[in-house]
Amino acid sequence: MNCPRCGDILVTKMYEQVETNTCPKCKGVWLDEGELVRILQTKEKQFDDALIHQAIITAFAGVPADEKRSVENCPKCNELMNAINYSYASGVIIDRCCNNHGLWFDGNELEKIQAHSEHWEKETVKHQDDWLLLVQAVCEDQKKTKDLKRQKEMRPTKYLVNSIIRKMIGL
Ligand SMILES: [Zn+2]
Ligand SMILES: [Zn+2]
Repeated sequence: MNCPRCGDILVTKMYEQVETNTCPKCKGVWLDEGELVRILQTKEKQFDDALIHQAIITAFAGVPADEKRSVENCPKCNELMNAINYSYASGVIIDRCCNNHGLWFDGNELEKIQAHSEHWEKETVKHQDDWLLLVQAVCEDQKKTKDLKRQKEMRPTKYLVNSIIRKMIGL
């Protein structure tokens, strides 16, 4: 298989107990459908605080303008891939084959997603009680909002995630 980004030949590489196809030149990673879940479940690799922080800030800041594009073709079927915002709000844009062959990650996108996912798993466990109170408070706030248009914008999940992140980084 060739790298959908730079055309170099992808090499197999074991990562978190999964055989991935990695580009030696641009460091992108191809995962067959289903492999991402296995990687997210294996937590052998440790992430440094800087990467975790970056991953959270990315989620909070939204998608950078230069990330909103899909130019790659699937290395398996050569069809165009769709850009998706991983986990809807991570801010990390990955490419998925429209025929469900798999996912393409540029540079350190895979690590960012792992850091993002592991961080939130830990936070959820650590602050379960706090979170519950916060969720209740947020729902109350939402009910109190008279403006219907504004209420609509406060979609529960997005609003909640933003509120929690604001609280965590002290905004
Ligand atoms: Zn490449
Ligand atoms: Zn494909």
